[in-house]
Amino acid sequence: MSCDGNFMKKSGEESHPDLTKAKICQDFIRAIVAEDIASGKHGGKVVTRFPPEPNGYLHIGHAKSICLNFGIAKENAGVCHLRFDDTNPCKEEEEYVQSIQDDVRWLGFDWKDKLFFASDYFEPLYEYAVQLIKAGRAYVDSQSAEEIRIRRGTLTEAGQESPYRNRSVDENLDLFQRMRAGEFEEGQHVLRAKIDMASSNINMRDPTIFRIRKASHHRTGTRWCVYPMYDFAHSLSDAIEGITHSICTLEFENHRPLYDWFLNELKTPCHPQQIEFARMNLTYTVMSKRKLLELVTGGYVQGWNDPRMPTLSGLRRRGYPPEVIRSFCERIGVAKMEGTVDVSFLEHCLREDLNKKALRVFAVLRPLKVVITNYPEGQTEELEAVNNPEDPEAGTRRVLFSRVLYIEKDDFRENPPPKFYRLSPGQEVRLRYAYFITCQEVIKNEQGEVTELRCTYDPASKGGDSPDGRKVKATLHWVSAEHAFDAEVRLYDHLFSKPDPSETEEGQDYKSNLNPNSLEILQNCKMEASLRHAKAGAPYQFERLGYFCVDPVDSSQECPVFNRTVTLRDVWAKIEKAQKG
Ligand code: ATP
Ligand code: MG
Repeated sequence: MSCDGNFMKKSGEESHPDLTKAKICQDFIRAIVAEDIASGKHGGKVVTRFPPEPNGYLHIGHAKSICLNFGIAKENAGVCHLRFDDTNPCKEEEEYVQSIQDDVRWLGFDWKDKLFFASDYFEPLYEYAVQLIKAGRAYVDSQSAEEIRIRRGTLTEAGQESPYRNRSVDENLDLFQRMRAGEFEEGQHVLRAKIDMASSNINMRDPTIFRIRKASHHRTGTRWCVYPMYDFAHSLSDAIEGITHSICTLEFENHRPLYDWFLNELKTPCHPQQIEFARMNLTYTVMSKRKLLELVTGGYVQGWNDPRMPTLSGLRRRGYPPEVIRSFCERIGVAKMEGTVDVSFLEHCLREDLNKKALRVFAVLRPLKVVITNYPEGQTEELEAVNNPEDPEAGTRRVLFSRVLYIEKDDFRENPPPKFYRLSPGQEVRLRYAYFITCQEVIKNEQGEVTELRCTYDPASKGGDSPDGRKVKATLHWVSAEHAFDAEVRLYDHLFSKPDPSETEEGQDYKSNLNPNSLEILQNCKMEASLRHAKAGAPYQFERLGYFCVDPVDSSQECPVFNRTVTLRDVWAKIEKAQKG
């Protein structure tokens, strides 16, 4: 039983989750694990693993796999290994190894002492290959990569056997040993499993299991010049570590026969069960590491941790708490069906969490000066403001009021359109927690731009309460000019302007769908004094504007920088409400 079908955005159809049902279902993988424990398979033990290739930073798709693997282990008193699948010397880097560990820890998971590297198994993997050769189940092929490719056949056509397929065991052993010794160039020979060139499953048509690569590996240096291929290394690493359930994404479904073939032929003491689930896709972003790397190296974003990236480090910097990502992964569930989750659902989970936690403060992003002409010059007043209406424990704070204030430019119109209830000439509004004010005069510069408003306040409306029952239709946020401090604020939007960035005009690629307005930087925003001591990453709600946090990378005491984590507008909640009618 799975529960994620509803969260998918299917093409041409809007379909949305019923959140009330989301937590009740147990997914099909947990059901398999529960059955195996009950039947005593694997001695009732549960050992899972998360096996990233260190060729990029982790993204939110990986989080789904992390939550699943570590979650299942935890729920069943088992363990989950963190194993770096570092069998490709060309693309892997130490920086990624470090960032992946940081990100898994930040998400809230602990591999204890179970940190492994596939490269630690190069020697046993080599020995396993020798065993296959001795059993007549592997041979050295000396065709070129191109010849191998051509002879592999197609989905409708069987492959052809290599002319080298029937080399003797001794010849194969000798050649393989010399491959290891570095006697040959890259591509001169490969080691292939001898399975079935006519198999309907192309993965079973004598797949390559070792190839020559004269490259330096981030951990083993130049000790090796033959490297195992993914399927071979992966199944055997699982077996070496005593993994019970090897959970992976659907694209490996067709590799499962090969996974099992290696374990059966080599009679490994442990035979993990491979189980596949659908990978997570999100609208308005890309999730392939190749593409994310291209965005980084091409300068389309400022790095792997750019707050617009779907990477865990980007989301963290943007202000996502790890528990939001965990609960999102739990709520979208696990299924066998490919689909794309609407990013507005992720943002909905985020707002739900921040609404409970974030302290409310005042910040004016596009300031317009307001002078209260009947307020005494030099006077300052402390007014009481509620820190978080959702959390009585959060208490109150004092905000400073004085004669010169800032309000949002947007909250004033000289010629208000119908139904514009905020400030305009002659109009009275409430300043939250402060007073009623009325706009008396508009001051402009030579270009005709409004630079200042002259207003009067009603001293009897202190705290923002109506003195005589008269009503105002708008309540504005504000800051005291003298007490506020300046900051840079970065407003983020989706990285791509299309829900599916791969949908492009002919001759274009996904990058043509990058959203040119995904980042807007505002300078000289006016911040309430209490934000001076905001800690990096701590969530705030700037009233009426959204959720924000101090940027943990670029912010400093001299030049504070705030990131907008998310706006207040919850598209998802609206959709849900409409659905319920
Ligand atoms: P890419 O294809 O972009 O390089 P990958 O799947 O090869 O990504 P790995 O580092 O091999 O990246 O992934 C580690 C684990 O995370 C694998 O078990 C993989 O199945 C899982 N994973 C990767 N992307 C997703 C995703 N979008 N949703 C769920 N699981 C994922
Ligand atoms: Mg992979």
